[in-house]
Parts: sequence; C-alpha cells; structure tokens
Amino acid sequence: MKNLTRIIGIYESGNKGNLLFITGGIHGNEPAGVLALQRIFKILAKEKPEIKGKVVGVTGNLKAIQEGVRFIDEDLNRTWTEGNIRAKTENSHEKKEMFDIISVLNRYPEKEFNKRYFLDCHTTSSRTEPYISVQDVNDNLDWAQHFPTYIIRGFSDIVEGCIDHYESRIGLTGFVFEAGQHDDKKSIQHHDGMIWLALQKACDLDFDAMDYDFQYAKDLNERRSSQKTFEIVYRHGIESGNDFTMEPGFDNFQKIKKGELLARENEEPIYSKWNAHIFMPLYQKQGDDGFFILKEVSR
Ligand SMILES: [Zn+2]
Repeated sequence: MKNLTRIIGIYESGNKGNLLFITGGIHGNEPAGVLALQRIFKILAKEKPEIKGKVVGVTGNLKAIQEGVRFIDEDLNRTWTEGNIRAKTENSHEKKEMFDIISVLNRYPEKEFNKRYFLDCHTTSSRTEPYISVQDVNDNLDWAQHFPTYIIRGFSDIVEGCIDHYESRIGLTGFVFEAGQHDDKKSIQHHDGMIWLALQKACDLDFDAMDYDFQYAKDLNERRSSQKTFEIVYRHGIESGNDFTMEPGFDNFQKIKKGELLARENEEPIYSKWNAHIFMPLYQKQGDDGFFILKEVSR
C-alpha cells in the first residue's frame, strides 16, 4: 500500500442530497476497506452515475497502513473521546491523524446536506461472517436495519473513543461494518457490496442505470432472509495472569446451549449458562476478552 492519500475519492453528480462519509483503514492492519474504496471511486469516475448528494472516501491511519501495522503509538479507534477532542493536543501519531480526519469531515457541514451518514470499514483477526456493529444512539439502529447482514448492538458501548462514537455524537447516522478476516479476499468483496448498498440507500444510486454487475452487493442481499439483530448479554473477561483456553471449534455467531463446555480458565471448566450465540471466541494468545454471549433481539 503505497502513495496513499487521506482522500481516496469524492464523487457527486450535482444533485442536492445526503453525505455518505466512508472511512477505511482506521486500523492500519485492515486495508480491505481502503482497497474496496479505491476500486469503487474508479468505477464511479468512469461510469458517472447520477446520485443525490456526495460520497467521500477517507483513509484512516495513513502511516500505519503504509507500514502494515495496526497503529503507531495508540489505537486510532480509541482516541475519539470528548476529552481528547476538546484538549486538541496532538501528543501521539494517532491524535494527529484523528484531527486531520476531523478537518476533512468539517469540509462537509450539516447545513449543506439533507442528512449525513457514515460507514466505518473494518476487518477482524479471526474468521467471521460479515456483520454490522452499531452504537444504539440516534437513528443508527433503524438505519443499520436497512442492510442485510447480522447486526450487533451494544458492542461499541463496551469500548470508548471509537470514530463511530464521535460521528454519532456530532449528529451523523451510521455504523461500523466488519467484513471478515483481515487477509481474506472475501473481506474486500464484502466491503465492496456494503459500500454500494450504502450508496444506493444514502444517495439514491440506481444499480440498473450502471454497467456494473454489483455481484457482491447482491451476494450480501442474499443474507437478508437470515438477518438478525443481536445484543451482547455477557462478556467473559479474563482475570490478568490467568490461563484461558477456548474449547476448539467455535465460530463467531455459532449457537450454543445451556450446559455446553465453552472454555477453561486455570483448568476450571466454563459452562454456558445460556441458550444463545457465541461471539468473538478468543483463539489468539493476546486479549482479555475470552468470549461474548449474544441474544437475538426482535428489533
Ligand atoms: Zn478494526
């Protein structure tokens, strides 16, 4: 990933409408969103479809992506706290990148659009079905439910300082999309599909008016019938110094039953207390979240 610039692309066709502000690579080891955006802006420039409003594609952690690392000094998806933004201190590489991204977003003020939407593109360290993670504030969840993938609500409330918190706080509507594993080719395809769907819904892009097959958007739409919204009901935090081993074979979102052996911590078995779904089972060495438990919610 060389010659990266902050702005990946800007596209409009002269009609008033909504802003769609898309970020990729907020984590430098997650280039899939950036790659999908580069491709999409090439297609938009070539085909010049009519849209309402404007789409802006932005690179997240420029330096970290180019160095192939998650971050330089600190996680760019933890810096967006009210305190940091008020203090305006650029005492880490990531805070400089954060204020630069904010200055880009500030070029597209609320008053110039009917509504402002965001989409923040990520990938995960372990294998997973693509899913939306939504902070349940404003109309974020209503908006997320227009899209066909699984939706997790309440996960982003466990952590602080995410870019989607900032965007929601200043009045934008949107969510985070986790497209799959970092180095899986399918992750780029899922981002491609999700970004086109977001353009369709936020900026009235007409797929039929374009000479492009939108295969990945169609593939995502096939998930519509199995779409579910989940809520986090439990986080298994690992006590520091403890030895935690997940039982093998659990996939993200897999159904689990009450009484099922999930993991061992310092040899003590941990049995499921729930008929539910498991989320982010820890199979790496690092981390202090052993697993999460999800319950399906009706809305
Ligand atoms: Zn990420």
